[in-house]
Amino acid sequence: MDTDLMATQLPVMLEEWQSTTGWQPGAAQLLQFQNFFDLVCLANKSLNLTRILEPGDFWEKHLWDSLQPVLTKPDLQRESQVIDLGTGGGFPGLPIAIAYPDWAVTVMDSTAKKISFIESGLATLELTNVKTVVDRAESLARNPLHRESYQLATIRAVAEAAVCAEYAVPFLAIGGTAILYRGRWSEAETVTLTGAVEQLGAKITEIAAYTTPLSQGERHCIYIQKELPTSSKFPRAVGTPSQKPLSQRTTIAAPILPG
Ligand code: SAH
Repeated sequence: MDTDLMATQLPVMLEEWQSTTGWQPGAAQLLQFQNFFDLVCLANKSLNLTRILEPGDFWEKHLWDSLQPVLTKPDLQRESQVIDLGTGGGFPGLPIAIAYPDWAVTVMDSTAKKISFIESGLATLELTNVKTVVDRAESLARNPLHRESYQLATIRAVAEAAVCAEYAVPFLAIGGTAILYRGRWSEAETVTLTGAVEQLGAKITEIAAYTTPLSQGERHCIYIQKELPTSSKFPRAVGTPSQKPLSQRTTIAAPILPG
């Protein structure tokens, strides 16, 4: 028998889910997590989706890490339209779709091969609440079917924080929330991001610091709420947000002319 094809069992971790998030996956969700893990392991042989393939690591750094920032926020439990930007192998979008079968989750990435992987796995995972899109965030955010259309936007490991904000905020309806999934975080990043989100019509509502439950890895999640329509200037042209990230608005004082 080809040992490569033998499934490796993911840990179940019901107590860890319960104590850290107040939620537990049901039997169907545990099976979806396992099937997702098997699909990622198989596809990863030909496609570089993730380096995290040890079952305990996958549980902590992909499943738990994707879900904890959403599960622990009472205000987010009624969200319905969600978009995950730069989803790669499906993180955090697919764990969110599994945990919230009533939500409509759009996962997007500019790499067609990664989206094909997700698309081809949806039937096996019995996920009927997921839509996939291949595009750059900068262009999809200008598509009226997507702009200002989501209550929640998630973005993990895509770019620096101000760039993530410029990608994510245009997708939000007024009152919607963007979650930037980060590792370490600094005061300087808060200053830059505060300036960036103001220009986008949004504000930072929370910077949550926490550690992962198995390996005590450092994490921060930045919660951003949209207050006003985003100016049609944003997001800027493809490539510009990452080349010239938004920062504090520099106000150039009008010259004082001699009377
Ligand atoms: N969110 C996943 C993948 C992170 S890797 C995770 O946390 O595991 C970053 C992904 O972002 C890559 O798949 C890359 O194709 C995508 N990406 C980077 N810039 C993008 C952009 N401007 N628009 C859409 N996708 C982008």
